[in-house]
Amino acid sequence: MPNLQAIVDEIYARLRPRLGEGKVADYIPQLAHVDPKTFGMAVVTVDGAVHTAGDFDVPFSIQSISKVFTLTLALGKHGETTWNRVGREPSGTAFNSIVQLEQEEGKPRNPFINAGAIAVSDLVLAGHTPREAIGEIVRFVRYLADDESIAIDPAVAKSEEATGYRNFALANFMRSFGKLDHPVEHVLGVYFHHCALAMTCTQLARSGLFLAAGGRIPGTGHTVVSRQRARRINALMLTCGHYDGSGDFAYHVGLPGKSGVGGGILAVAPGRASVAVWSPGLNHNGNSLIGSLALEMLANRTGWSVFE
Ligand code: GLU
Repeated sequence: MPNLQAIVDEIYARLRPRLGEGKVADYIPQLAHVDPKTFGMAVVTVDGAVHTAGDFDVPFSIQSISKVFTLTLALGKHGETTWNRVGREPSGTAFNSIVQLEQEEGKPRNPFINAGAIAVSDLVLAGHTPREAIGEIVRFVRYLADDESIAIDPAVAKSEEATGYRNFALANFMRSFGKLDHPVEHVLGVYFHHCALAMTCTQLARSGLFLAAGGRIPGTGHTVVSRQRARRINALMLTCGHYDGSGDFAYHVGLPGKSGVGGGILAVAPGRASVAVWSPGLNHNGNSLIGSLALEMLANRTGWSVFE
């Protein structure tokens, strides 16, 4: 096993002079308040060791990374019929694009673009009130991370609700094609709230560990999903987890990953570790610029890759 703490320390030291590069997302007003120079990293290995650097203990808005957890829940509830509502192909378009949705009659390309995640929120909502569905999602990530302190930042949810015109457009569009079962306001209520989950790098890396450990939480031995399902979620993260930058991320990092516009990325090294990085400046595809570099450095130094 490589000396992970030394590697993480070195990555932080090397990237420190570059903190502040990229553009902090400001289309959700509440996200614009974050210090652009923050950087956090946590590597949690399948045998339980935790290696951290920088602001690893500062909660940030995980945004689209939450889509991994809602997809897991939807698959648990609906199994393979989930795929009647959302596809499994990379989109090749921006995270909030509406063009493709019209051409494909309201069935989003994959569960990680906004439209796809809104469809998944609709599935998680089945049989629940919005409040119950949001509660279920929060309880799920607390269970995964074994941390009861994880919570939603209500100011972020409110901020997005007040300005999420595009997401309203996407949801209304899907509803017009008969592709949502619940009222748009309810579905988006669930969507905005799970995007507003605030987590530290350590909490996030712990939450993703089941994907690195064949669907089980190594600490407790609980099975979250089958090994096959964990592999498949990883496959979707690899092909669709970085929007129109997914190919680039696979090329440079070579690990399944999911990014969020809050500047976080969750990456999975199957059989080895779950990694969370956070740095708010984004590249032109809306993925953390420094976070992507940190993961590339980690993959290079550890040799971790799904392609060998
Ligand atoms: N809540 C954000 C939105 O819907 C998520 C986008 C992201 O993290 O990529 O715009």
